[in-house]
Amino acid sequence: MVFCSNATGKLIFFCPLCGVAWSNRPIGMQLNQICSLQQVAPTGISLPGERDLVDLTRSGTVHNVDYSTWQEFLDPLLTGT
Ligand SMILES: [Zn+2]
Repeated sequence: MVFCSNATGKLIFFCPLCGVAWSNRPIGMQLNQICSLQQVAPTGISLPGERDLVDLTRSGTVHNVDYSTWQEFLDPLLTGT
């Protein structure tokens, strides 16, 4: 999933299944860095705006998911909304 760092506004990539976060988009199945969300975005995350995702959407890298499907999990993580 893609979020914004509250501190920098940069995109943050986060896997909700294993809790690993990246400050750069992970490439393919490569795992060369293991960081927690706290390490990558110490002041928290917020939902990205559509403008933040233009490049990723154009390249087909991301697609929308229904917020309500993940709400119970996401609400405690989102501190900037
Ligand atoms: Zn994972």
